[in-house]
Amino acid sequence: MTRPRILIVEDEADIRRFIRLALEREEMMVFEAGTAVQARIEAASRQPELVIVDLGLPDEDGKELIQDLRNWSSVPVLVLSARDREEEKVAALNAGADDYLVKPFGVPELVARARAQLRRASIVSGGGPSSSIARFGAARVDLATHQVTRADETVHLTPTEFRLLAALIRGHGKVLTHRQLLLDVWGPGYADRPHYLRVYMANLRQKLEEDPTRPHHLMTELQVGYRLAGLDFGA
Ligand code: CA
Repeated sequence: MTRPRILIVEDEADIRRFIRLALEREEMMVFEAGTAVQARIEAASRQPELVIVDLGLPDEDGKELIQDLRNWSSVPVLVLSARDREEEKVAALNAGADDYLVKPFGVPELVARARAQLRRASIVSGGGPSSSIARFGAARVDLATHQVTRADETVHLTPTEFRLLAALIRGHGKVLTHRQLLLDVWGPGYADRPHYLRVYMANLRQKLEEDPTRPHHLMTELQVGYRLAGLDFGA
């Protein structure tokens, strides 16, 4: 098996080193960039399978770098952000980032997020799911026929509930912001109504989670959006 190539874009040498050591222990091949300019060169020449981007770069906003990457690459992007910069994190996700880590973070969290993105990318780059059947926990969703079951019992979803669920499934475990989901499911003009999402996510949890008060799949990303965890494809 070839070692996954990871590009770290971070101007603080200590943090770069910390991430490098953690990922090299996991048999990953790590490249580094300290500026956005350098990051563009490394991304183009190394063809990484995951890019980790600090949003506070000396020469440019990390968001711009992500938007730029998205013009030519679908490589997963994991964002590093400071705790007090909530809007920046959301803006980065809207710009095309896939997930985020809040500084300071530990090694297990970093490794888990990196692995999740690599896994997700390998499903997506395989031409997307070849099966129309998505599964998580006891739930089974047929995206072609719109049939939904939980523990083999038929579950009735409203059209809007189904659209929201399908949007989460299409995200393949990616964090989807309130704005992205509202535009996708309800359309333009609804981007500022996150309360819609709260109501419909509660319905989906009621119908699909084993314990709706402690969801394991339909996850809330506080003040950011939602994510579907533990997703699998195939009959
Ligand atoms: Ca920085």
